[in-house]
Amino acid sequence: MRLVLATANPDKAAEIMAILTAHELVLRPSDVPDVEEAGTTLEENARLKAAALVEATGEPAVADDTGLEVAALGGAPGVRSARFAGEHASYGDNVAKLVSSLAGTADRRARFRTVALALFPDGREVLAEGVVDGVIAEQPRGSGGFGYDPLFIPDGGDGRTFAEMTAGEKHALSHRGRAFRALADRLSVN
Ligand code: IMP
Repeated sequence: MRLVLATANPDKAAEIMAILTAHELVLRPSDVPDVEEAGTTLEENARLKAAALVEATGEPAVADDTGLEVAALGGAPGVRSARFAGEHASYGDNVAKLVSSLAGTADRRARFRTVALALFPDGREVLAEGVVDGVIAEQPRGSGGFGYDPLFIPDGGDGRTFAEMTAGEKHALSHRGRAFRALADRLSVN
């Protein structure tokens, strides 16, 4: 099956292509703009991104949306993870805000959650979720990955942050790896 990918991020696209190997994946046409993530849930945002692509191309599309949910912050930043430190926050701004938000907090538990969604021109959709539990480090460590990776220590690892791992090590455990492996399974039976 041919699927159009919503992400314009080359690292994420490569990772998704390595998992959805049973399908022909095409990158988002450059004339289709980024969709504003106006939804209030990860599911809604993934659906908005996929729907814009289906409308523009007439082909099945795959989109995902991810949030970091921190227990001591009541699940924030969640769907607002990209904008935690402000509308145009950089990854560094968001990391600094998370370090200061949790300063002196003993409960460091957090989880990454990804919703991956395939949407077809007839309106049918296949949805999958991937979660990885972990803890937020006191200070950022490592230079790999992106976003909150320097602060996230996944359960089931060896105490390194995602940013201290190779891409392969990260995605064996990661929310996005799990979500897209589950999506691949569901697409194979649908
Ligand atoms: P998106 O929905 O994939 O664009 O992710 C929203 C925000 O969550 C990003 O801007 C990052 O700050 C954060 N994020 C998503 N995936 C990851 C990841 O794998 N590691 C660290 N941060 C991530």
